Amino acid sequence: EDLVPRPPVVTIMGHVDHGKTTLLDAIRSSAVVETEAGGITQHIGAYQVKHDGRLVTFLDTPGHEAFTALRARGAKVTDIAVLVVAADDGVMPQTVESINHARAAQVPIVVAVNKIDRPDSNPTRVRQELVAHDLQPEEWGGTTQYADVSAKENQGMDDLVEKILLVADAELELTANPKAEASGPIIESRLDVGRGPVATMLVARGTLHVSEAIVAGDSWGKVRALYNYRGEKVKEAGPGTPVEILGFDKPPAAGEHAHVVENDRQARHLAGLRAQRVRAEQFARGAKKGVSLEELFTRMEEGGVQELNIVIKGDVQGSVEAVVGELAKIKHPEVAVNVIHTGIGAITESDIMLASASNAIVAGFNVRPNAEARALAECEGVDLRTYRVIYQLTEDIQQALVGMLAPEQVEESLGEAEVRALFRASRLGVIAGCYVTRGVIRRNARIRVVRDGTVVYETGIASLRRFKDDAREVQEGFECGILLEGFNDVKEGDVLEAFETREIERTDLEVAGDGQPAEEAPSEEPA
Ligand code: GDP
Repeated sequence: EDLVPRPPVVTIMGHVDHGKTTLLDAIRSSAVVETEAGGITQHIGAYQVKHDGRLVTFLDTPGHEAFTALRARGAKVTDIAVLVVAADDGVMPQTVESINHARAAQVPIVVAVNKIDRPDSNPTRVRQELVAHDLQPEEWGGTTQYADVSAKENQGMDDLVEKILLVADAELELTANPKAEASGPIIESRLDVGRGPVATMLVARGTLHVSEAIVAGDSWGKVRALYNYRGEKVKEAGPGTPVEILGFDKPPAAGEHAHVVENDRQARHLAGLRAQRVRAEQFARGAKKGVSLEELFTRMEEGGVQELNIVIKGDVQGSVEAVVGELAKIKHPEVAVNVIHTGIGAITESDIMLASASNAIVAGFNVRPNAEARALAECEGVDLRTYRVIYQLTEDIQQALVGMLAPEQVEESLGEAEVRALFRASRLGVIAGCYVTRGVIRRNARIRVVRDGTVVYETGIASLRRFKDDAREVQEGFECGILLEGFNDVKEGDVLEAFETREIERTDLEVAGDGQPAEEAPSEEPA
């Protein structure tokens, strides 16, 4: 009975330079006119606008990266995604990425076709391109709302906000109980020199009042003061409202769930328990939280898995499409195999965050993760696999679904070297002057030549030298000269990834099955 409507929370997504930031500014400034208040001087991570007496909350950090990072920490912050597409540029890679991230979070999409002031703009073409991504405009008989806007000239903002509210009414039931004790995600926090720890909470439920005790993760405090997005001091904040909180003992992490508790003592106690648990979890990091192919069957048997989500990256569109086609053929009575995102190019942090938030695995074809993505995957416990042939992935998945996946060969990454200079030796070929950026390069290691995240060649080392001397290995932080076997097309900026493969025992079942796939690469080179 106590439920009342609450404002929808909106994130702006889209390709770089399509106008996300400008659009946020435009909506903000048009709202100032309506509220005739002194203007928004504060950036607290979110702001609100009023339309026909109803509020809409906009998150101030545009882009799907921030959105998915919050989601990966368990916070579902956004109700609606506004997809900005520049009408003079059309659908671009990050447009598609944004669509997939929004879909993975099951958040409805409103399209803002931006830059319609440009003479070369073509809003119809944008619509046609988006139809291919299942975003049929309502005016063409579909269900997606489109607003044509110019963020720069402040045109169409009302129409956009109206369409957001339309979608909120039609597709979402946004209600909350303002009388409950407040809870909601932290969307931003920092340590302010003058004011101490400052955190912005998006109150999702209940009403937050000054002097209440609050806990968020391992941070706790008594609310000393509250500020709204205009920088005005307020006494309370209701559902759907972003509010800046003073009084935490330390800045809580963005994405933490904050909630009011009975008193300070309890808040401190809960924060302490949480801190203990975090330490224990860090200790037991080995126990991965994400889904992995190796554990898939055990988890299925425990009844914990109904779907296997996969993010696919490849070097060319053709191979990605082929993979999607092959995966579609895999049928399993209990587990659905879903491809939630595909893309061309290196595996990035954004892919890992999406996988982490959606409990997915990541598969790359002839592409490699960059260093940040690799580190993030390890930290988030995301199963990241790279393949050179399609059937290896489909086979892995089929075997995982029946609990028979045993890696036949494990790959051990040794290190990476960056090519900084090239030397042509007429008799030998091209020697790559390298700097070892991670780990170690061994003379007998296999080498993968990675250019802009794509594997261009795989081979062995013909010669490894420190100055004029042959070396068995070269450690991180040192320079060396590398001559690759049968590959002279190395370029400055290439990354040489050194790795070794180790055989792992296969189970009887698999040995009895079809023969081992013939590797086209030569087998381990003798030392
Ligand atoms: P973001 O990377 O998506 O945040 O894009 P920005 O908001 O930074 O905008 C990128 C560029 O596009 C800037 O130079 C803006 O001035 C310009 N821009 C944004 N919106 C419009 C618009 O509606 N019309 C025109 N002509 N330019 C725009």
